[in-house]
Amino acid sequence: MSLHGDYDPQNIFAQIIRGEAPCYKLYEDDDVLAFLDLFPQAHGHTLVIPKRVAARNILEIDAQSLAKLMAVTQQLTRVLVAELQPDGVQVAQFNGAPAGQTVFHLHMHIIPRVAGQDLGIHAANRADPAELAQLQARLVKRLAG
Ligand code: AMP
Repeated sequence: MSLHGDYDPQNIFAQIIRGEAPCYKLYEDDDVLAFLDLFPQAHGHTLVIPKRVAARNILEIDAQSLAKLMAVTQQLTRVLVAELQPDGVQVAQFNGAPAGQTVFHLHMHIIPRVAGQDLGIHAANRADPAELAQLQARLVKRLAG
């Protein structure tokens, strides 16, 4: 899909926001939702999305909403680093299919990285639900504490 076009309200992240599709939720407030990626590139791969803005990409969001998205992204990055103790952490965001975007609702990736592991751009495997649920519980507890 091109960089320019119309927002599709049936995209999977819009469905998650409306509660029509499930997610392993880590954090939610009036503006932002964060949840675990179902096809993680690494253990702890988290997505952070704006809830109230129908923006397909970074070009379409207002600066105030973007600032809020980034503030929550930083907060979640700190939680992931504190809990999982990775060697590095990627915070990434793609705009348009040629740039690697596959879901056309703006989202930030937070990907904990361990030294020596491959930096895969797209993971092939769906995560084990039990592992995701366990990780969700750990991170939600850390976020609350
Ligand atoms: P991008 O390639 O930047 O558009 O990233 C989209 C991300 O959404 C990928 O990492 C997918 O694994 C992830 N993803 C797709 N569907 C779901 C879903 N239902 N729940 C959680 N993550 C998803």
